[in-house]
Amino acid sequence: MAKTSKVWFAGANATNWTESTICKAKDLFYLAGLDKCIEKDDSVAIKIHQGEWNRTHCLRPEFVAAIVEEVKACGGRPFVTDTTTLTYHLYNNRCTGQLAMEGANRHGHNPASLQAPFVISDGFSGEDDLRVELPEGNILKETYIARGLYEADACINLAHAKGHPITAFGGCIKNFGIGGQSKRGKYQTHLAFWGDPEDAIGYPKVNKEACRGTECPYSKMCEDSCPEEAINVTPEGVVLDHSKCALCYSCQVTCMFTGMEGIGFRDEYFPLAQIAMSDAAYGCIKTFKPGKIGYMAYAVDVCPECDCFPWGGLPVVPDVGVFASKDPVAIDSAVCDMIDKAPATPTSRAEELGLKPGEDKFKAVNAFTPRIQLKAGEKIGMGTTHYELITYEPELNPENISKWQTRKVPMTVKPMRQIFKNHHLAHEFLPFKREELPNWLVDWKKFDPTA
Ligand code: SF4
Ligand code: SF4
Repeated sequence: MAKTSKVWFAGANATNWTESTICKAKDLFYLAGLDKCIEKDDSVAIKIHQGEWNRTHCLRPEFVAAIVEEVKACGGRPFVTDTTTLTYHLYNNRCTGQLAMEGANRHGHNPASLQAPFVISDGFSGEDDLRVELPEGNILKETYIARGLYEADACINLAHAKGHPITAFGGCIKNFGIGGQSKRGKYQTHLAFWGDPEDAIGYPKVNKEACRGTECPYSKMCEDSCPEEAINVTPEGVVLDHSKCALCYSCQVTCMFTGMEGIGFRDEYFPLAQIAMSDAAYGCIKTFKPGKIGYMAYAVDVCPECDCFPWGGLPVVPDVGVFASKDPVAIDSAVCDMIDKAPATPTSRAEELGLKPGEDKFKAVNAFTPRIQLKAGEKIGMGTTHYELITYEPELNPENISKWQTRKVPMTVKPMRQIFKNHHLAHEFLPFKREELPNWLVDWKKFDPTA
């Protein structure tokens, strides 16, 4: 019988104090045993995707702060972290440490909100990394892990579940497989070192027939997108000088973001990139001692595209909930299954495509199934796609209500009793002068157009 891993899940809906997604995330942290990953004074990386400038659907700081609080409660010393990116597009806001910090501040990923430092783990220009050998890799045989993650004692991989145009889905595997890599590591994951220009695997794929050349309204942006000035748009179409190309993918993404198709990817690139991403995620895991990584995922704001997009498309499904596990493959499998089970959000891309509960949402929305990365992760030994889903519903009782409140002693007992006693304005007026109930208040139905 196949090995199974436990995945804890709590649904997104809430009707009382105990059912806040924050409270359920904290409960799951302990139920899944993530507290066991942390010893006193451990430096604990809480790895998130900070989101691109103007992205409106990235992980809310409160979801992250909730986990910071529990890492501290376990004696750990948390820092919240992400990495710089390749250039990706001409207005990218995360390709240097400075830009990334500016964007993180705008999203509320800063010490004031998180109560922990926010650190760019691969340094100012994404070169602070360490090499990890991957002899067991499906494709990659080495990768480069951001130094901050490499040096941390423990990690909570805190993913935001959403789609991705290349890897179909982004969860915990992607949070390490791309998000845990330095720039050199990201080159590996994007297969930049593979093949020749005509293979169009590592190199951008130029579709001359689809490019309108200088008639394209984005031709200036297209040329500006290249930091190596390797792009020249002529009346006949785009010309890419491969001898200058540094494989930063900025021209591809710029063209894709404008809805044009002059530069893109070869179809086979997409599944291969998923497999490479799983290899790279395993490289990140190898930098930690066994038992020192916990995985969590918030499946809320489940957009069709990744947090690296500078906008947020309507979520493909309504909010699903929060997940926790010790197994990255199992948690991502469970998240994908639960997203697939859910109905399409009205007016979303998933509804436009007529997707029904049970259908592979990200395959339909992003062309390839995310199951490729899960299978690749399983094959490399990172985890299992077989899982036992344990659904958690907090019991409504006084103990659970008080457990995750900002103060353990009710506000009303302290400080409000004292404030009421000593200073509260009401005491100057008590007993209130009683007024007769005015007639208009009784006739409230006059204001209700539906009555
Ligand atoms: S031509 Fe090469 S270096 Fe220039 S934007 Fe495209 S991928 Fe980057
Ligand atoms: S490659 Fe894309 S963005 Fe550039 S000119 Fe052609 S269609 Fe326009």
